[in-house]
Amino acid sequence: MKILVINSGSSSLKYQLFDIESGDVLAKGTCERIGLGDGIVTHKVPGRDNYRIEPNMPSHDSALEIVFELLTDKTHGVIESIECIDAVGHRVAHGGEKYKKSSRVDSEMIDYLETIVPINPLHGPPAIKGMRACTRLLPNTPQVAVFDTSFYSDIEEYGYVYALPYEYYTEDKIRRYGFHGTSHRYVSQKTAEFLGKDIKSMKIITCHLGNGSSISAVDGGKAVDTSMGFTPQEGIPMGTRSGSIDPTVIPYIMKKHGLTPDEMSDVLNKKSGLLGISGVSSDFRDCLAAAKDGNKRAILALNILATAIKKHVGAYTAEMNGLDALVFTAGMGENQSEIRRMVCENMSYLGIKIDNDKNENFTRGVPFDITAADSKVKVLIIPTDEEYMIALDTESIVR
Ligand code: AMP
Repeated sequence: MKILVINSGSSSLKYQLFDIESGDVLAKGTCERIGLGDGIVTHKVPGRDNYRIEPNMPSHDSALEIVFELLTDKTHGVIESIECIDAVGHRVAHGGEKYKKSSRVDSEMIDYLETIVPINPLHGPPAIKGMRACTRLLPNTPQVAVFDTSFYSDIEEYGYVYALPYEYYTEDKIRRYGFHGTSHRYVSQKTAEFLGKDIKSMKIITCHLGNGSSISAVDGGKAVDTSMGFTPQEGIPMGTRSGSIDPTVIPYIMKKHGLTPDEMSDVLNKKSGLLGISGVSSDFRDCLAAAKDGNKRAILALNILATAIKKHVGAYTAEMNGLDALVFTAGMGENQSEIRRMVCENMSYLGIKIDNDKNENFTRGVPFDITAADSKVKVLIIPTDEEYMIALDTESIVR
């Protein structure tokens, strides 16, 4: 079965074509600058040179047409015709309160997703465009939506309702939704598989540390808590996002500096986090290099980040009354031994100890155990693969 996974952004569209039986990626690529002129499409087929074109892509429809041409092209393609695509899986950031698991795309779903655009303004419209484009271009091919929020649909009400007047939840749908769920679900399942254990008997904390970062508590295969909330802004500091702060700071800054809500939102989303604290960069690599050179604000940024992660690990261990595995994933979690070292330092009270040699000399791109011999809790690096998880969900629903 061949499954095309699509991840639509506001001006981009990423795609991967999977052969689900072998698990192989047959082709993948990115369409950039959709609707902006001077489009760029990069198409990659394993074992071949990358192919890059610069077409005009006024819409997601036109970008998908180009993807289908590339996939079926005599020279650059990997399938005979688009009828060879058995199903399409869409990455959808937000399923609102209605979509609690991956589901078939239909007009009822699209209508509902339109209604929740106000709480998902950045990611909702492009996802809907991607679904509409596929419906037009592949009318007979089943489509499945896989939601980043759905992994958190089993969280107890006390875990997702904020301590605001209750009407803000009932009327305005302001609650914790959680994000990155497809990654946390994949990584927690992989953890159990890697350790040869039944996930139903495991308590796992997954740390997805990338440019955007979140931490989830997974008990018996179900998410019981997560750091991101109403939006992907809550939780630990990120590349440019503040994460959680005292909420009163926001109206205070707005009044003092005369900022509009959009300007304040820009500060919180684009000028804060590692970038805001260090003044150096949003990229962990740059902050680490500056910290090693003695830059005090870069050192401060790394300490704030590591402490925020530690606090979540402690809180989630308490919430689950135990911990079997602490897992690091995504760009920073998989590749940066320093953040793993800082987080796991002085955590022996919780039974967490890493082997520093293994942590430094880990093998990239595969699950890797960095646990110290006398650690009670397993500490692992598990590379995430959200697209593969989407392909698996799509397959199981279509079958
Ligand atoms: P992501 O959003 O998952 O791409 O992660 C971005 C963050 O991960 C940045 O802070 C990078 O410093 C870090 N990162 C990503 N890839 C690598 C790599 N290959 N080596 C070191 N750090 C990386």
